[in-house]
Amino acid sequence: MGLDRIAGMFVPSRCPLCRGAIDPDLLVCGECMRELNRSPVLRGEPPEGVDRIVSCADHDGAPRDLLAAFKFRHLTTLGGLIAGYMADAAGQPGEQSLLVPVPPASLRTWFRGFDPVAMLTARLAGLLDIPEPPVPVLARRGSGRQRGRGRAGRLSDPPDIRPTEAAGRQVGGRTVLLVDDVMTTGATLSTAAGALLLAGAGSVSALTFTRRL
Ligand SMILES: [Zn+2]
Repeated sequence: MGLDRIAGMFVPSRCPLCRGAIDPDLLVCGECMRELNRSPVLRGEPPEGVDRIVSCADHDGAPRDLLAAFKFRHLTTLGGLIAGYMADAAGQPGEQSLLVPVPPASLRTWFRGFDPVAMLTARLAGLLDIPEPPVPVLARRGSGRQRGRGRAGRLSDPPDIRPTEAAGRQVGGRTVLLVDDVMTTGATLSTAAGALLLAGAGSVSALTFTRRL
């Protein structure tokens, strides 16, 4: 065994949220986990076109750091933890018959090499036992850069999200649960819901991990 390996055994694992030392078997430290578990489920006024919105937490503290670690540091194992909170918040599914992820800005997905919302939606499909359509039903054009823009800018210039050709056949008459990672102004969810309703969806609810208002 090389010296570097021996040294490695004594380097404590770090919590990806607060950088505190943790047991290597844990995803996040106990303190951060307690904060995550304390966050009350949020059900506020839904954006236009959305019947109901449920979010797991305010976009702040441990929930915000968890989402950032998953999205920007590609810690994909945290996706399971996030999806678990989202499934709990969704509560009794039953009514929803189709899970649809908000499509990413193509440039961003290309740059990151993965689509965090698609990954969360796939996990939720398993946890909630609600299917995803076999082909994309929403398409997003342009870079759709919302991050770093002011609230007014985001509201006045929502992303360009439209139904795909396959959308009508997939969502017609269905009750859709729209999934996104964070709700900021609701402009993205509203645009996506509008596209689903245009394609014939019966109704659209939304589920996000955090909500920033
Ligand atoms: Zn921590």
